[in-house]
Amino acid sequence: MNKFKEKTIQKITAELWEKHYLKPKFNIIKELLNPLGFRCEEVEFKDSVSGSLIFDHIGNPIICVNLKNSDARKRFSYAHELGHFYLHHETMTVNVEKIFYRNANSSSVEDLREIEANAFAANLLMPQAEIEKNIMENESLEANVEALAKKFLVSEAAMAIRLNNLGYTEA
Ligand SMILES: [Zn+2]
Repeated sequence: MNKFKEKTIQKITAELWEKHYLKPKFNIIKELLNPLGFRCEEVEFKDSVSGSLIFDHIGNPIICVNLKNSDARKRFSYAHELGHFYLHHETMTVNVEKIFYRNANSSSVEDLREIEANAFAANLLMPQAEIEKNIMENESLEANVEALAKKFLVSEAAMAIRLNNLGYTEA
């Protein structure tokens, strides 16, 4: 991902934290998506699909997540789809039912949009500044992954990737 996109993602997510007074355990539906005008639904998808962003006939955004996924996974999916909204959908007035599907392989697929939406979700759910405030310097990486995943309501896998990307590695 290029630096410009990375900066854009950091800027948008930092503004959302500030404007909505978010805290690490924020409720993404009630404290963010609903106030932003998104309808959120848990629906039955096939197992390989974890979320979608669609627009109704008057252009209102709806984010659907797979009801069979864990709470942490659903939360990440909501954040990921919000990323597509900010990064890949320029106009809100389009009447087309534009659908972005996120499937289980998206973290390994070389799809730039998927990588960017995942980076958006990571920055939204685990902002660097908040991680730095909460990291336990004297604990192992493993202990930090476990504790911070609970603190930020994300999966340990998501937190492990985030800490790694932020440069935290086992001493
Ligand atoms: Zn996606």
